[in-house]
Amino acid sequence: STPAPSVPNAKRLEGKVGIITGGARGIGEAAVRLFLSHGAKVVIADILDNLGEALCHELGEDVSYIHCDVTNEDDVCKTVDFTVEKYGKLDIMYNNAGIVDSLMPEILNTEKAKFERVLGVNLVGALLGAKHAARVMIPAGKGCILFTASVASEIGGFSSYAYSCSKTAIVGLMKSATAELGRFGIRVNCVSPYGVATHIADGLLPVEAVHFEGLLSKVGNLQGVVLKAEDIAQAAVYLASDDAKYVSGQNLLVDGGYTIV
Ligand code: NAD
Repeated sequence: STPAPSVPNAKRLEGKVGIITGGARGIGEAAVRLFLSHGAKVVIADILDNLGEALCHELGEDVSYIHCDVTNEDDVCKTVDFTVEKYGKLDIMYNNAGIVDSLMPEILNTEKAKFERVLGVNLVGALLGAKHAARVMIPAGKGCILFTASVASEIGGFSSYAYSCSKTAIVGLMKSATAELGRFGIRVNCVSPYGVATHIADGLLPVEAVHFEGLLSKVGNLQGVVLKAEDIAQAAVYLASDDAKYVSGQNLLVDGGYTIV
């Protein structure tokens, strides 16, 4: 007899409530769509109000949009409170919002203000998300905190100093939170993508965004494979689900093996 097939269409996040920062487009948007299809209720926290609201309109009543600049603690605090008021709890905090200032590591062109801006969004924003999620997850005695880091957390030369430093530091943030919050039933993990063609690098590439995918597919050992935002979202769904109930403190690279080779 043939073994029972895995259940690809199972709803892995049924009954869960999540916040996805940077959920209005790109990897965050893919995560919003996939979380919903797995039965979760989702709050999109972003600064792109038109895109976020349009997405809600398209996806229906299990998704809400709230304006939230992750560098503003008051916004982050309100986002968590809004979620708990509207949906009764917070199971998943996916700190995904991020920016990049340059794709090249060039120390002589590294401006202090830009460096601090990138660290502010990517790292301080992620810290605030984790802090305010923990505020409600600790009393609940459970929860899952996710971060979008990057292969830049593992290798040098992938992008600017600021981006690389911010993503490496997110892994430190994840490890600290894993160590402190595990006793409260809170799991903490990172998803680290290799390049995905999104709008994050608009204006920074020598080619137009439409050619970006082709550029990425020629790199390293990906051998023609082009990662999509959905591929990253799949890893986030796994980590957020009870399938990963004993997985904490990990930086899950979704890079086709690029980093290790
Ligand atoms: P994207 O630009 O399409 O999406 C980023 C989202 O974050 C946008 O919706 C943007 O409005 C939002 N955002 C930016 N600043 C914000 C702020 N201050 N407050 C709230 N929201 C804010 O880019 P993406 O590629 O989908 O990036 C998502 C995450 O993935 C980022 O953390 C990025 O660093 C990471 N990442 C991307 C790649 C890639 O190649 N695209 C690779 C590795 C890691």
